[in-house]
Amino acid sequence: MIDISGTRQFHGHFCPGLALGIRAAEVALREIGPHSSDEEVVAIVETDNCSVDAIQYLTGCTFGKGNLIHLDYGKNAFTFIRRSDGKAIRIVVRPNAAGEPDPEYTAVSQRLNSGQAEPGDAERFTELHEQRGQQVLDAPEADLLDVRVVATPLPAQARIFRSLVCEECGESTMETRTRQFHGRVLCIPCFRALEKRM
Ligand SMILES: [Zn+2]
Ligand SMILES: [Zn+2]
Repeated sequence: MIDISGTRQFHGHFCPGLALGIRAAEVALREIGPHSSDEEVVAIVETDNCSVDAIQYLTGCTFGKGNLIHLDYGKNAFTFIRRSDGKAIRIVVRPNAAGEPDPEYTAVSQRLNSGQAEPGDAERFTELHEQRGQQVLDAPEADLLDVRVVATPLPAQARIFRSLVCEECGESTMETRTRQFHGRVLCIPCFRALEKRM
């Protein structure tokens, strides 16, 4: 069973984006399995929207563990790779997957976005937004998602690098992220600040 209430709590609200992430995670858990201490699963997400919170919460692929990789392509597409045998799937949300939005939803959200909200619009929007999320949860999987087995090279294992102290701000910085300037070791923001002054 997918823990929808836990996912909702983790994300802070229920919305169509979160629902898409829940549906994608459901497929990943079935086809690839959850990340665990003896089975590393890597997720590559091509968006940074609400859906990724569901992916993190439900599959155990998280930013902090280094097994969640973000590619800034602005697509609702999620690839999951199981390190033990290299099995990988790419899940893409089909365009207009949950059907056309209800005209009232479109009208209310336009009023809210253009600062012409009428009394009760904000509450109504929350309601309609949740309904739309529910439509995503109820949609048949094949209508909603395109799922393919793909051949993807395994991403490099998360590694621990040593840190150096930035000679400008004194903050400890991962060595691979430091810059050298006139023989001094600098962190990226200090390097950029110096570069601007040149
Ligand atoms: Zn959300
Ligand atoms: Zn610095």
